[in-house]
Amino acid sequence: MKIYGPVPSWRLGNSLGVDLVEAPPGYCKACPFNCLYCHLGHKGHFMLEPASMELPPKDFGILEKKIIETKPDYITFSGQGEPTLNLNLGYAAQRIKEICDVPVAVLTNACFAARKDVRANLDNCDVVIAKIDAPTQQLFEKINRSARGIKLANIIDGIKLINTKVCIQTLIFSCGSVTNADDETLNALLDVYRDINKSKPIEVLLGTVTRPSDDENLQFVDSEKLSEIADRITKECGIKARYFSESEKEQKNVRRKISFDQLGVEITDLLLRRPCTREEIISRFDGSDAAIVLDRLVDKGVLGLKLLDYKKGHYVVL
Ligand code: SF4
Repeated sequence: MKIYGPVPSWRLGNSLGVDLVEAPPGYCKACPFNCLYCHLGHKGHFMLEPASMELPPKDFGILEKKIIETKPDYITFSGQGEPTLNLNLGYAAQRIKEICDVPVAVLTNACFAARKDVRANLDNCDVVIAKIDAPTQQLFEKINRSARGIKLANIIDGIKLINTKVCIQTLIFSCGSVTNADDETLNALLDVYRDINKSKPIEVLLGTVTRPSDDENLQFVDSEKLSEIADRITKECGIKARYFSESEKEQKNVRRKISFDQLGVEITDLLLRRPCTREEIISRFDGSDAAIVLDRLVDKGVLGLKLLDYKKGHYVVL
């Protein structure tokens, strides 16, 4: 179990990450998907069978210390691996609730939501943020590029059976001829939201491709378009919808005074799981020397800077 961040999240505020499934050596992720826009890279290990992976008791002590230091708004299961691959996810959520009263979120592709044991784990969390980017199997395979045999219909059926709060997250974008931003696809996505909402009331979170990826053809949509789609979801489906915009970004600073060495380790652990801008990193280490450590790591070539099309922002990358 690797604890990383916190990170500023437009959905979850100051979000402290817990990675329950680390990527095997030589791979950037452990996931049954390989989404076109994945910010972790594309050399992933297609892991297809959830299993009980060990969570050492000492890690919960480390987590408790970090919760006290960073005062997160949410503790979020995410990182290099699809969290539901670890069948101890529910146990981890229970242990966290014994330590603190911070709500627990999980970011998932919902690939295994049709499994009863996986849903039992998810139900120990306060909110499940489940990915649906496409309304049809054909587009799902083009965008999320899942391992063979994974059916979008099963994912949707599984989501309907989750008992805890569910938000559906959709990234709206284009990549060459692949897009979910055209009217026909958006109408069909609205049908999917309506269909899920009939059995399981949901909220919809709309984002776009704002983080670096290997693919140069990714094209984001602007916040005006996201705002229009969110309005349609609310008016035409009766479902609450929020969308990403720069002004929604969580702005607060987290004060932490830690050593140079520890800063280097924490920044590297973070960037292996979540690309961040320089400003985002510095905001989580207010009062420390994060700017100096970042510059040194860039000078040494350990970290690089990548200019992203979206708002022309610079991301720090490993
Ligand atoms: S589900 Fe998440 S981790 Fe897996 S490939 Fe897609 S974006 Fe990457």
